[in-house]
Amino acid sequence: MSASGVYNGSQGRVFLNMWIDSHCHLDDPKLAGADGAGAAVARARAAGVEGMLTICCRTSDSFAGILDIARAHEHVWCSIGTHPHEAGDPAEQAISESDLVTRARAEPKIIGIGEAGLDYFYNHASPEDQKDVFRKQLRAARQTDLPIIVHARDADADMIAMLREESGGGALRGVLHCFSSGRDLALAALDLGFYISFSGIVTFPKSEDLRAIARDIPLDRVLIETDAPYLAPVPLRGKVNEPAYVIHTGRFLADFYGLGEDDFATRTRDNFFRLFDRARETAT
Ligand SMILES: [Zn+2]
Ligand SMILES: [Zn+2]
Repeated sequence: MSASGVYNGSQGRVFLNMWIDSHCHLDDPKLAGADGAGAAVARARAAGVEGMLTICCRTSDSFAGILDIARAHEHVWCSIGTHPHEAGDPAEQAISESDLVTRARAEPKIIGIGEAGLDYFYNHASPEDQKDVFRKQLRAARQTDLPIIVHARDADADMIAMLREESGGGALRGVLHCFSSGRDLALAALDLGFYISFSGIVTFPKSEDLRAIARDIPLDRVLIETDAPYLAPVPLRGKVNEPAYVIHTGRFLADFYGLGEDDFATRTRDNFFRLFDRARETAT
């Protein structure tokens, strides 16, 4: 049994040596396919991936279906929020900070706000719109005391500035998901108490710079994820990714950190429940 024991369900069920996918998109048709999200969840469970956090990118329309998926499955939780790619859409802009707060407070399956952030690589929305929509979500996260799930790409300086500014307004918790940014952003986020989540990118041969940063992340701040259906880890690179495959990233990082597989699974699982503490309410 896990000595750290962060979670021991009220019905006596303990996640023992189980992996958790801290970020996936179970509603994505590429992942759900013809047999639906339930089949992907079943395959994950069969592989030893007990818990999943399915992430919302569009509150205005896709959130309802995401919540249905989370409600339909034990140990599947969801977020609510707007991806930076969608920040130029008036329907997403119309969702207020208080809308997010009200909806998040009312639904125990919602355990985080996002995915939110800044993406200046694709620039699907203007930087101004991205900042506005991100700020609204940072404030909703603060108000609900739910973690903010941050997507950051090619926006390190603005991201650092916004995280620092909003953290100055009150306690803010969160994770930089699918981390692939620079060392300065990682250190600034750690300094603010954030977690860093690694996807299959960390397993790619060319990701030496990312692994050099991973080396310096305290083990009690590391999460793992698939970001399924994207970014399948080695040795499944190029396939449609799914939560079951988080094990490959987990095994890779266990070896990288010189830890046993069970030890690393336990640590990342405990980290998940420490950050996404609301998941414990429904993790029975
Ligand atoms: Zn993302
Ligand atoms: Zn995502």
